[in-house]
Amino acid sequence: MLQTAISKPLLQKAAADLQNDLPFSVYKPLIQKGRDLSRRGFVYNVIVIDSERIKGKVADVTIHDVTLDLADVIGHHDCPCETEGPCSHVLALFFYVYGNVLDNGELLRQWKQAEKKPPQTVSPAPKTSTVAPAESVDEWWEQFAKALDEFAARHRRRDDWPYRLAHQLFPALVKGGPKHHAARGLYRFHAALFLFHHLIEYGKERGWHQRLFGSYGQFSWQQDVEYIADELFETLERFSSNPSASAPDPLIKQTVPYVRDLLQIADFFPSLIYDLYTAAWELLFTTEAQRWQEKEHLLRLAKEKRIPLAFLAAAHLAFLLKEDEEAFALYRVFPESAAPCFIEWTKRLITSGPPDRFASFWAKGKQELPYYLAALPEPERTKFVNEIGQLYESYAQQNNRWDEYEALLNHCFPYSANRYVQFLHRQGRYQHMIDLYLWANMTAHEMDPQFLKMLEKQDPALVLPLYHRAVIRFVEAKNRPSYRTAVRYLKKLRTCYRALKQTNEWNAYLEQLCTKTARMRAFHEELRKGKLLP
Ligand SMILES: [Zn+2]
Repeated sequence: MLQTAISKPLLQKAAADLQNDLPFSVYKPLIQKGRDLSRRGFVYNVIVIDSERIKGKVADVTIHDVTLDLADVIGHHDCPCETEGPCSHVLALFFYVYGNVLDNGELLRQWKQAEKKPPQTVSPAPKTSTVAPAESVDEWWEQFAKALDEFAARHRRRDDWPYRLAHQLFPALVKGGPKHHAARGLYRFHAALFLFHHLIEYGKERGWHQRLFGSYGQFSWQQDVEYIADELFETLERFSSNPSASAPDPLIKQTVPYVRDLLQIADFFPSLIYDLYTAAWELLFTTEAQRWQEKEHLLRLAKEKRIPLAFLAAAHLAFLLKEDEEAFALYRVFPESAAPCFIEWTKRLITSGPPDRFASFWAKGKQELPYYLAALPEPERTKFVNEIGQLYESYAQQNNRWDEYEALLNHCFPYSANRYVQFLHRQGRYQHMIDLYLWANMTAHEMDPQFLKMLEKQDPALVLPLYHRAVIRFVEAKNRPSYRTAVRYLKKLRTCYRALKQTNEWNAYLEQLCTKTARMRAFHEELRKGKLLP
């Protein structure tokens, strides 16, 4: 009988370990499926091997022969389904055993509630939860490292399970810390930063940046990274929304190099890290003196180690300090990576900056456009010009700067061609539009007939060159069907010349064409069929 063969304290300890290692919110589907399998009678032939080890069968699509060790369910279990970590079958067997001795309903209630309280309520509190308040950031990081070591020692037997770093190690790191209320937010920020560094290190050791899609472990690690990054962003937001709660100055000052270290690990998640770094410099470090010092520091770092992100980050600080010229010069070192940042700044200054701030930014910035265009791969240039064009267009609309907008379109030609045509169309500058089409080597044949008709109505002279080009192209193609098309465009030409009352010009043109094509018998036949020749 299970009730007599298994000790209650052992079961209770196993249950506490499971609750600790498998937070309900994360493992809910797994836990509920295990409980269901057991409740609905899919667990059978359960045998107690010795006082700790149990085996049994679990029916779920196929029959699984499951064993588990109550002294360490997560570390020692076996199931043919080969899921990494405990599967629903192992949990089903556990629930079966537990339910025979104790109350499964009560266990589930505890499991759900455990997360609302600190995770230590169900297991003896580790030493990390009672760290003494530290007075310097360095000491905080020593405490974090100690807590991580203890955590790793407790979980060494299991091939580390990264998902629990965010859900278990992080709350343990945050617990304790300084008593000083104002410093607690900063302490939390550092705990997250410490864990972020550790996670990146962890992924690097496994080469996870080289594979796009990998194991379950990699997937959950990635979620961990995102979870902690969110935590960092949220903490930073809180600093800016509540400046009076910001930490004492010395602690903030000590934080600077820790944030800077992010730039050194940016071969993983570079844009996430860039965003984190710049967010810290917008929301946490806000004095001009700090920003100026940091910029100088980054410039040294950038030159020594050629870290691309350091150049971009230094430029970001320069923009914050309104030293646009310096910022643009830094962007020129890596123009391809800088192009998206340039778009961001344009957007930011147009939508939220004072108008004169944007005006001075743009006066210099527009001269930089050729660098970005030259650096970007051909297919991305039009997209880049479109984004900048769209932003500037909204500015031009509000500030009546259409001349500047046109200068931009001119500057970015031919990548701005579509936008330029639309602009000229709205302004009714049809002749200019035609020039663009001719520049792009277009003929009437490539154009929308409706649009062509509209232009012809405006002024038949506009479309003459487009028809002429179409005729030449199809005559030169030298085959029967192309001659027919050429004749079609010749007739349209004739209509235009007539509308313009330039019949003499038309006759002269046709005569010249006939002379030039005198040897092309088939073409002349088509001309006759089309009644263009007698
Ligand atoms: Zn299984």
